[in-house]
Amino acid sequence: MDRELRSTHFHVRWTKKAVFDWRPFETGHEALEHALQFARPAELFSIEEVLSTHCTMCRAKAATGD
Ligand SMILES: [Zn+2]
Repeated sequence: MDRELRSTHFHVRWTKKAVFDWRPFETGHEALEHALQFARPAELFSIEEVLSTHCTMCRAKAATGD
């Protein structure tokens, strides 16, 4: 369980959702499965791979103490 050692991870970026889901995924496939499960018809999203050390999304989430 050396999750922190991974150099990159993935996020689902929704183009229209007001509330973003910045849950990190270990693989692009996982992120895609999640996105397809929650996507509404005609809703657009993209899977983005980010460097773990430079992820502003995870950092912002950690700052909230969640
Ligand atoms: Zn992240």
